[in-house]
Parts: sequence; C-alpha cells; structure tokens
Amino acid sequence: MSAWLEVGPDNYVLETPGRLLNTGLVVGQERAMVIDTGCGPRQGREILAAVREKTELPLVVVNTHAHYDHYFGNAVFADDGATEFWAHVNCAATIDDDGDHQRRLVADIEPEMAAGSGDEAEIVIPNAIVKDQPVLVDLGGLTVTLFYLGRGHTDGDLLVGTPSTLFTGDLVEQGAHPSFEDSYPEEWADVLRHISALRHRYEFLIPGHGKPCSDQFVKTLADTMTTAVRQARQSIRDMPTDATKAIPVLPYGPEQSRWFIKRLQETQPHH
Ligand SMILES: [Zn+2]
Repeated sequence: MSAWLEVGPDNYVLETPGRLLNTGLVVGQERAMVIDTGCGPRQGREILAAVREKTELPLVVVNTHAHYDHYFGNAVFADDGATEFWAHVNCAATIDDDGDHQRRLVADIEPEMAAGSGDEAEIVIPNAIVKDQPVLVDLGGLTVTLFYLGRGHTDGDLLVGTPSTLFTGDLVEQGAHPSFEDSYPEEWADVLRHISALRHRYEFLIPGHGKPCSDQFVKTLADTMTTAVRQARQSIRDMPTDATKAIPVLPYGPEQSRWFIKRLQETQPHH
C-alpha cells in the first residue's frame, strides 16, 4: 500500500505504486487540496482512501496538466463532494477536446476508464481556471499559489506553490527521461531555469513522478535540454532529410529523442 511522505507542515506526497504518480496533499484548516488524481477510478479510489486517512475536510482538486494519469481519477473526487477542479486554461481545453481520445491509453490498467463505462469513469473537466496570472487558493490558514510559467511539458502545466513546497507536475520528472510527446522543448528549458531560480522560496520540490528533487537537479535538466536543442538543431541543419540521425547524440532514450526532434521541428520559434 502507498504511504504518505511529509514534505513540510501539512504538505504530503503519495507515490502510488504501479504508475508511480506523485499525488500532493495540502491540508488547511477548512479545506484540503489534492494535486493530481490518477489514471482512472481504480487508482483514484486508492488515492482518495489514502487522503481520507489524513483528513476528513472537503477537498479541492488541482490537475497539473492534461495527461491521463493526472486527471482520469477526477470523478472519484467529484463523487466525494469536490466541486472545485483547478487547471490552466489550456489544460482544461485539452481535457475537453482530447480526454475521450486518451481513454485508449489505459486499456491495460483501468479497463472501465478505457471503456468509458461503470462507476466514476466519466471525464470531469476542470472548472476553476488559471490563465497567465497567479491565483491564490485559501484553504483556511494556509494559502496555495497556482501559477503558470509558460509552455513546457505541455502547453498547460500548472505549478502549485505552498509556504514550504513546490509541486511541479511533469515539468520535472525524477528517475525517467522527460516526456516530450506534447512538449515545447526550447520553452521548457526556460521554464526549468525559472523553476530552479524559484527554489530558494521552497524547502521541497516535488516532481510529477519520482523522488523529491533539488534545485541543482532542475538546473541540470534545463542545461541538458538546452544542449540537446542545440545539438538537434545542428543535426537538422546538417541532415535536413533525415533529422533522426541526431538521435544517437541526444542525451535521452531513442524513443524520447525521436519525440524531441519531432516536437522541435513542429514548434520552430518564429525568428
Ligand atoms: Zn505528463
């Protein structure tokens, strides 16, 4: 069974087995905030049961971005009484447009979610929207800041800052290569640099998957990504007909390097 790790007063992180998603929990005096809900009702219920070991307070939910493992558990929390589901505007739009399409990704692990049938298999679209300006959410004696630093892992990655802890979603992953499928690699490196510069404000930095990280870890991720952008651009210039030749020189696995090059070509900045 999963266990909570305490990261600062009233801040917890739950690493659920299997998918190794980090769910955050921030407990105020009147409400508690759950950050990311799992890849379907099965995992969502595990997370909710773990949350209920910690607190009986009404829950507020945050989805850090529009990848299935971070929001497919929302309906479980709606059934538990949550009415406020926070996300960046682009994340909410992607869940609305693409949520049903992502069901196929959980066929092996969450068959009911994949089929769209059974209890708590509906897609709950976030209804509390963050745009470019930070939003403060009062949990009673504890204020959480939801903010956006630009495009990175996706076009709608929300960060969650508390007095002690920064939850980054998949902008930072520990123990695995970054996931580039929906990414903006050049902008992502800038976002990572920004996160690493914020680090003095937070004692704990919690990635979307993996163990708590240091600011130096995030800085290294940023530097690696910037170098990879330069290497891949050079290869694309040298071998425009076959940019995949750059794969062996990139610092990521072959599959992620392929996505990296594809997204770099698709997201050419205008200069
Ligand atoms: Zn993701």
